[in-house]
Amino acid sequence: MKNTRKRSIIVLLLTLSFLCGLGFYSYKLTINAKNWAFKPINAHLSMHGLTEASKILDRNDVVLAQSIGGQRIYHEDEYIRRAMLHSVGDEKGYISTAIQNLFKPELFGYNFITGINLPTFLKNKQDIKLNLDSNLCKLALQKFGDKKGAASIYNYKTGEIICMLSTPTYDINHPPDIKNEKTENYEGVYLNKVLSGCLTPGSIFKIITAISAIDNLPNWDSKTFECHSKEIIESEKITCMASHGKVNLKDAMKESCNIFFGNLAIELGAEKMQKTANSVGFNKPVEVDGIKTNPSLYDLSNASKASIGWSGIGQHKNLLNPAHTLTILGAIANEGTAIMPKIVKHDAPTQSKTYISCETANKIKEIMRYNVKNKYGDSLFPGLEVCAKTGTAEIGEGKEPHAWMVGFSSTEEDPFAFVVVVENAGLGRKIAAPIASALMNAAAKCS
Ligand SMILES: [Zn+2]
Repeated sequence: MKNTRKRSIIVLLLTLSFLCGLGFYSYKLTINAKNWAFKPINAHLSMHGLTEASKILDRNDVVLAQSIGGQRIYHEDEYIRRAMLHSVGDEKGYISTAIQNLFKPELFGYNFITGINLPTFLKNKQDIKLNLDSNLCKLALQKFGDKKGAASIYNYKTGEIICMLSTPTYDINHPPDIKNEKTENYEGVYLNKVLSGCLTPGSIFKIITAISAIDNLPNWDSKTFECHSKEIIESEKITCMASHGKVNLKDAMKESCNIFFGNLAIELGAEKMQKTANSVGFNKPVEVDGIKTNPSLYDLSNASKASIGWSGIGQHKNLLNPAHTLTILGAIANEGTAIMPKIVKHDAPTQSKTYISCETANKIKEIMRYNVKNKYGDSLFPGLEVCAKTGTAEIGEGKEPHAWMVGFSSTEEDPFAFVVVVENAGLGRKIAAPIASALMNAAAKCS
C-alpha cells in the first residue's frame, strides 16, 4: 500500500514536470521560433533566402538591396554600397547587427505555421524601410576616406538615425579575401562601431563630469582651479595642453582644461561621479530596434585618487559607445529626456528615458553652446546654433589619439545630434570637427 502511494506520487511528479517542460518549450517556441529558424545552423534557410528576399530602402525610397531573377542586387553606386554595408549587411551574416541578418523573417515572409514553405504569392514578405539617408552616409564615407572610426546623426525628437557609418568597410559586390589580405586593413570590419564599438572618450567625458558638478556642487559656476599645465596627484602627473591659470567650469570646458576637470572629479569623489555616469546610461546597453549596444564603461571600483582624476577627463578605464553618446546629447538637447535611436522606420511607440533634470540639461547646453560660439566658431555650422565638445583621447602604445567631436543643433527646424570619432587620427578639433561640420550642414539641407 505504502509502495503504491509512493509510486503514484513519483508518477504524478513526473507527469507534472513533463507538462511544465512542454508548456515552457511551447512558450519559448512561440516567442522565438522565427529567430531560431534563421540561426546559421539552419544553413538552408539562413543562406539561400537572400536571392528571394524583399527590398531594403532608405528614408527617401532609394533601393539599397533587392532580389531580381534569383540574384541579390545592391545599389549601383559603390560609395553607397560601402557606406551602407553595416546597415544593410553582408551575405554570410558576419555583420550580426545588420538588417539582412536581423530582419530575415520579414524579408523572407516567414510564417509561424508553415515556416518559409509557402508558395511565393502567399508569402507575407515585407520591404524594410530605414530612417537612414544613404546620400548622407555616402558623404560620411567620403569625408572619412580610408580612416577608421564611426559617425552618426540622429533626430533627438523622433529617434530616427539618419546617418550611420562604420569604417573600415568594403564593397559587397567585391568582398575582399580578408583572411589573405593585410589583416590590419580590415580589423573590426564586421563590427558596426556605432552600435557595437566602445572607444576611449578623452575630453568628451568632461560633459559628464560637468553634469555631476552641476547636480552636486551648489557653487559649481563660481568654483575655480589653478592650472599650471601639469599637476602631480599621488605621484601621478596630469598634464594640460597649456597653462590656463585660474579657470571656472565654463572656461575650463572651452579650453578643455585637464587640471580643472581632474580636480573637479576628485572633489566630487567616486560615489557621486559613478552615480552621474550610471544615471546617463553608462554600464548598460541602449536598445536600438531591439539590438543591444555594447555598453559604455565607467567603473571607479577601487580607484585611487589619481584614477578618479583621470576618469574625470575621459581616460582611466572609460569607454564610450557612439549610439549611447547620441542619447546623452539628445537628453541634453531635450530637457533631460533621451529618445532611444531607431534605424528602421516603424510605427511602434518611441522609447525614452530621463537621464538628467531639465534644469541641469539647460545649464550644460548653455556651456556647450558657449564652446562653439567662443572656441570652435559658428562658421562650422552656419545657422544651426550648435552646442558641442571636441575630444582627443590618448590611447597609449605610441599610437595617435582618437579624434572626437560630439554635439547637437539647438534650432527647432534641425533637431539633430551628432557623434564623429576618427581612430588614431590626431586632434579632435582638427580631424573630427570638419567631418562633423560637413555632415551636420548636409543633414540640415536634407531636412
Ligand atoms: Zn589647463
